[in-house]
Amino acid sequence: MPQQDSYFNRSLERLFPDELEQIQERKFKETIQRAYDRSPFYKETFKKLHLKLDDINRIEDLSKRNFFTTKEDLRGCFPFGAMAIPRNEIAELHATSGTTGTPTLGLHSAKDLDDWGQIAARALVMSGLTKDDVFQITPSLGMFSGGFGFYHGARKVGCTIVPASAGFSKRQIQFMIDFKTTMFSAIVSYAFRLAEVAKEDGLDLRKETSVRKGVFGSEIWTREKKKRITNLWDLDPFDIYGFTELYGPGVGNDCRVHDGLHIWQDYFLVEVVDPNTGEPVGPEEQGELVFTTLAKEAMPLIRYRSRDLSFLMDSKSCDCGRTHRRYKEILGRTDDMVKISGVNFWPSEIEAILLHEPDLGHEYRITISHAGSADKLLIEVEAKESLDETKASELARKVISDINNVALITPELRILPPNSLPRVEVGKAKRIYDEREDRD
Ligand SMILES: [Zn+2]
Repeated sequence: MPQQDSYFNRSLERLFPDELEQIQERKFKETIQRAYDRSPFYKETFKKLHLKLDDINRIEDLSKRNFFTTKEDLRGCFPFGAMAIPRNEIAELHATSGTTGTPTLGLHSAKDLDDWGQIAARALVMSGLTKDDVFQITPSLGMFSGGFGFYHGARKVGCTIVPASAGFSKRQIQFMIDFKTTMFSAIVSYAFRLAEVAKEDGLDLRKETSVRKGVFGSEIWTREKKKRITNLWDLDPFDIYGFTELYGPGVGNDCRVHDGLHIWQDYFLVEVVDPNTGEPVGPEEQGELVFTTLAKEAMPLIRYRSRDLSFLMDSKSCDCGRTHRRYKEILGRTDDMVKISGVNFWPSEIEAILLHEPDLGHEYRITISHAGSADKLLIEVEAKESLDETKASELARKVISDINNVALITPELRILPPNSLPRVEVGKAKRIYDEREDRD
């Protein structure tokens, strides 16, 4: 029997492509008007560039001028320079962690929160959430936009919410057992952490909890990692996308087909550009995702550079019935590209090779340092179970050769005993340590 697809908003998720285009055209003009009239940051920027309202009718009018908004721009007008409504109409605000400098904010009016709930609800239903579920939120419900995105979406779906927030893994597992949680959301690495803590306590999550659905995001994750989550939790993992400056989780999500994430085109105009030149790339060519918000009141963003790399798929239809364009799962971030002795590679390429080995665990650490005049790449990865020396050195040789074939670099590889690398209880995992002072 064919699978019955469910939707949060059937008609809006299945609009015809030409209907979506008309909506985008209309909402784009409204966004430009709003930014032009109300956002001090955009008022100033447009003035500097001698751009009049009549000059901007289509996104191309901006792309041909290489017009972008960047994280640095938002930092430059922190906290409220990009606010386009009176301060007392801001209903909620979120902030990035700011570990690399001034944080950037997501400002929301009451309507923006309602919209966020709408897109997050569409994403959650796409991931299998129904009103009968008990849905546990394990990302932090705080300044980080992760937890609240799930919360606003789940409220709209009408399920039972367990707002556990981040950390306290043993308690999380107890909640799952006590409240009969059926679905949970997590930062990708936390799905592994919970499984580890359960194992230490002799619990098999597949048998002792009712969790059968999960939606994960916030970190780059490879297909190998998805397979491992499937095995650990006996569930089909869904990939959710979003970031604070837009809303948070819910901007995009992969459907049951698991071939790319649908992006809500009635809320965002998405383009792909060459990260170096800013020029639009060709069809299905890889580049940086650039977002223009189409409904944001409090903080409209125009051609905002996400630093996330992917490509837009050409196909305008999908077996799930949704018509909104799909982009491939994020391949990396422009800031994550590592250059070592003149060779560029993505950490995700290494992750894919490590996790392909059934005897290796999911925890790894990549350290780049200077060794004389050359760069040195050290990869430390945990074994899943303790390995004898012969097996470990055989495996290390194979993995080094696989990495050499794909990334053209020869790392030092250390296979560590299980549970020897530090674990992250709250927030995103850090896997790359660049000890060179002059990283470019
Ligand atoms: Zn689909």
